[in-house]
Amino acid sequence: MSAPITHKGHCRCDSITMVASGDPVLSVYCHCDDCRRAIGAPVLSSVAFNKADIDWQESKGLKRHTIGTAHRLFCGECGSPVAQAHDSAADKTFFNTGFMDDPERYPPTYHTFADEQISWLELNDTLPREKATLLIKRP
Ligand SMILES: [Zn+2]
Ligand SMILES: [Zn+2]
Repeated sequence: MSAPITHKGHCRCDSITMVASGDPVLSVYCHCDDCRRAIGAPVLSSVAFNKADIDWQESKGLKRHTIGTAHRLFCGECGSPVAQAHDSAADKTFFNTGFMDDPERYPPTYHTFADEQISWLELNDTLPREKATLLIKRP
């Protein structure tokens, strides 16, 4: 029997750690203004897992900030952005790829809010470029 596939993540200070079993649901770039501000970087990439597959091993310091139907999760100790949750995809958690221990495993497969990409950011891939999200509904 082979070992179960697991996916691990942790924040800078290790106050927040998680292990997910099962395959990620999606991996995506988001160029929207809200994601940009939430992580303080030109573009967000995130990888989603079904909540049923997620084991928060350390989450006491996990903080949540909500605007509308979007919830941003971050470490209250070191401030690292951790993940997002969305009311319209309530059975999933979208981890910032930089939170994952091995981000090489989660290459994004498309861009969302591609029209909002910062002009100086060069991403010379041939991935599909969507004008909005495919999974999450924004009000
Ligand atoms: Zn931390
Ligand atoms: Zn976004």
